[in-house]
Amino acid sequence: MVRKVQNWKRAITYHAHSVQQVTSIGDIQAIVKDKGRYPGPVRVKGSHHSTTKCVVNENGTVIDMLGLNKILKIDKENRTITMQAGVFHIDAAKALEKEGLQFYVNCEIGNLTVGSGACGGTKDASFYDEVEGGWEYGQVAAYCIGAKLVGYDGEVFEVTEADTPDLMAAVRSSYGMLGILVEVTYRVKRINAMAVRHVSYDVKEFADQLDELIATNQSIMLYLFPFLDKVVVEYRYDAPGKPESGSWQWKVRNYTWKTLWPFVSHLLYYIIPFRRIRNWLLNQLNRVTVWFMATILKDVNSSPADQIIRYPETAGFASYTFSIWAFPKEKYGQAILDYFEFCKRYNRDNHFRCDMLNVGYHIIQDRQSLFSYTRRGPVLTLDPVATGVPGWEGFLIAYNEFCSQHDGTPLFNQTGSITPLQTQKAFGKEIKQFLKLRKEYDPQDRFYTPHFRWLFEGA
Ligand SMILES: Cc1cc2nc3c(=O)[nH]c(=O)nc-3n(C[C@H](O)[C@H](O)[C@H](O)COP(=O)(O)OP(=O)(O)OC[C@H]3O[C@@H](n4cnc5c(N)ncnc54)[C@H](O)[C@@H]3O)c2cc1C
Repeated sequence: MVRKVQNWKRAITYHAHSVQQVTSIGDIQAIVKDKGRYPGPVRVKGSHHSTTKCVVNENGTVIDMLGLNKILKIDKENRTITMQAGVFHIDAAKALEKEGLQFYVNCEIGNLTVGSGACGGTKDASFYDEVEGGWEYGQVAAYCIGAKLVGYDGEVFEVTEADTPDLMAAVRSSYGMLGILVEVTYRVKRINAMAVRHVSYDVKEFADQLDELIATNQSIMLYLFPFLDKVVVEYRYDAPGKPESGSWQWKVRNYTWKTLWPFVSHLLYYIIPFRRIRNWLLNQLNRVTVWFMATILKDVNSSPADQIIRYPETAGFASYTFSIWAFPKEKYGQAILDYFEFCKRYNRDNHFRCDMLNVGYHIIQDRQSLFSYTRRGPVLTLDPVATGVPGWEGFLIAYNEFCSQHDGTPLFNQTGSITPLQTQKAFGKEIKQFLKLRKEYDPQDRFYTPHFRWLFEGA
């Protein structure tokens, strides 16, 4: 039965041949093997929080992974967690917290399924670990050290960092094109209390001081206010003592980000038809936010899992969308200044501006996955965020061009509307490598979608 499927924000729609609920690996093997009943491409649906056509599977078979949601083992001694692929990031983080452990990367998105985290793009500001010493990666997949996959022939095979590091690197950014991830093992660490504080900078001051700020060895997430020329830096770092779960500061921050800001911005669009007045109000809201963050939002002993947000199953009125490109650290100072100008110019010419604050992350070099956007060195990102009112799609096209010209790198599941040319510019060499592997691991194109074929091969 043909089924209409949408991503979380309901901005992307496709019609699958069928959507299959599964509860065992055997169910998935049976689907992959039976080509008559389950036409390809066979693709997995996590919680479909992706904002790009990486989720689209027109006329294909969609496997809903949310029924495979058991945490199989937490190994305290070797510091690993093994999970079925449909477990939510937030549920696993809470289970680890109870055992005195934590993920290295605590993405804000709690509904990320761990299978998707293991084979797709993610981001969080890299953390500097005082105990283990040194910067940590900012991508979830970097810490996936093993996975069980169902291959194109329906047979299960295993990939591990220890035995097959190159294949593991490809799997970490395979988006299901080398096989369906059914079980994953992540490396985790002992839990540490985390401090957080926010500092506001003028954008020029920020761009000039960027190297010094990074040299403080604290995790740097950015809140960007292009129309105020302001940047608020969220510094996070290890703190002494025991972590206290349930920090009110993170609750306020998460509620504001997930619900309050998108609700107010969206409402303004409908109740204030005059663009100038609406923009003036948005600017006032931005000013209050900058003040609030820099003055009130600080904590000394949060639990890292408190950063993670459980979003509703589908997006409602109070929801946002976003995009992301990553820029080499040494070019970021100029890129952010140019981006702020770009946002103002775009608003002047096209009467559209993002109605949420934008964000950014500092993420260190990471060659753990083939399509890692930090393969060539450390990056910082520019992530526009908006409620998705009319004008957003057009803005994305111009933003993509701006970013590609500034030597940016996109993420296949989080950078909407990129073109094959932009994809080739960012990942030409890696695409060749991946296509060779893909032919070997999926010779019958059981898992390959027209969208990825278009991005990788331009056809
Ligand atoms: C409101 C919101 C906030 C967000 N915040 C963040 C954030 O803070 N950090 C961040 O990194 N990202 C964030 N994201 C993006 C999100 O994490 C990614 O898009 C992620 O891929 C979504 O995971 P999912 O489980 O929903 O996977 P889906 O979107 O359902 O799938 C993603 C892709 O991976 C494939 N896939 C998924 N699971 C498997 C599997 N087991 N085997 C094979 N293929 C598979 C799918 O076929 C698809 O191509 C956010 C998104 C939204 C909407």
